[in-house]
Amino acid sequence: MANNKKTIAVIGAGLGGAAAARLLQQEGFCVDVYEQAPAFSRLGAGIHISSNAMYIFRKMGLEEALCKMGNHPDYWLNRDGETGEYISRIPLGEFAVKEYGAPYITVHRGDMHAAQIESLDQQRLYFGKELVDVQDSGDDVCLKFADGTEARADIVIGADGINSRIREKLLGQEEPIYGGTVAHRALIDGNKLKKYDLDFEDCIKWWTDDRHMMVYHTRPDKSEYYYVTGVPHEPWDFGNNAFVPSNQEELYEAFEGYHPIVQALVECTDHVTKWPLRYRNPLPIWSEGRMVMLGDACHPLRPHMAQGANMAVEDAAILTRCFLATGLDDYQTAFKIYEATRKDRATRVQQISTANTWFRTQEDPAWCYGYNVYEETLKG
Ligand SMILES: Cc1cc2nc3c(=O)[nH]c(=O)nc-3n(C[C@H](O)[C@H](O)[C@H](O)COP(=O)(O)OP(=O)(O)OC[C@H]3O[C@@H](n4cnc5c(N)ncnc54)[C@H](O)[C@@H]3O)c2cc1C
Repeated sequence: MANNKKTIAVIGAGLGGAAAARLLQQEGFCVDVYEQAPAFSRLGAGIHISSNAMYIFRKMGLEEALCKMGNHPDYWLNRDGETGEYISRIPLGEFAVKEYGAPYITVHRGDMHAAQIESLDQQRLYFGKELVDVQDSGDDVCLKFADGTEARADIVIGADGINSRIREKLLGQEEPIYGGTVAHRALIDGNKLKKYDLDFEDCIKWWTDDRHMMVYHTRPDKSEYYYVTGVPHEPWDFGNNAFVPSNQEELYEAFEGYHPIVQALVECTDHVTKWPLRYRNPLPIWSEGRMVMLGDACHPLRPHMAQGANMAVEDAAILTRCFLATGLDDYQTAFKIYEATRKDRATRVQQISTANTWFRTQEDPAWCYGYNVYEETLKG
């Protein structure tokens, strides 16, 4: 039973923070959400939501909406970037529904996120609140924001992404690791592809040794196609920017010799951005005092398994279960159980993502996609 007198502050209304806030609010907890952005825009990017996270969107009451807005690929195909030869075919579609118990979709990230944000208690969602400092007195936590305002909470969930302030407070300042590759991201108008006598498959990753291009539809009517790459790149001064502009020439160069389908995608690219892919090694702690982290704040990874957001949503669901099991007064036990239950799985995904080996050969993803947080035994 939720303890309504205590308040939980979620820092960051990204994919993980919004999931945590929704799940906790549904259970009757008092949850305030503080997001640094003044508002969210429809960022040009797609995302995979696999069955393991779809179970949780079901619980949030969002499964139907997501399934309507996304595409349902029958397979995640993997092909040699130069010869076009199929390397592996991972069944999804009806197979995922039957074997894993929930659909697997590819969707526009902004559309999905908008649905998540709408599902929150709007009275308790605060935009333009960049957390700059946090003080845990032992009795409660004081949050300080860049606009000079303050707020208090009994529990703080750091869902503030790879450059988390909460992580910094608990573990000190440390830049994420740059792994030597960038992701180019572009959305392509599906109409532009009609002129080609080529088969633009629903969900496909084109591979050569040191680079790849992952491509998929983000809408059920296939009016929008999206690609995200992994390409070796010298570092630059990343500053506070998550991405910088890129251009068609850079893509032509990066994918020279690739299959005609990839060349067509580059030809149809109007607008493309470039994201340095950064990560951290597993952190020694996920919580301290009254503060706990989830998602990219505590296990940021390279995106090559398409599981980062799915892991953040799983974290949110397990953390909610832990609070329900212990009550908020015993938050220390809740945090302990949460980390014990989540760490192995999150670390495994982090390691495979970093190695970029997922589906490079035919393999069975049931351990990942068939995992149901609501059937998992809480550890500790
Ligand atoms: C190129 C690329 C492709 C990807 N593709 C996929 C995919 O297909 N599938 C998948 O599951 N994952 C994918 N990911 C990973 C996924 O985007 C992340 O793992 C996921 O967004 C993590 O969610 P999060 O809520 O932890 O962090 P974020 O989504 O980063 O959200 C953090 C939020 O906190 C806010 N914030 C930050 N600092 C503060 C502060 N000081 N005060 C207040 N608010 C703050 C931010 O504005 C943001 O809204 C991809 C990532 C990249 C880079």
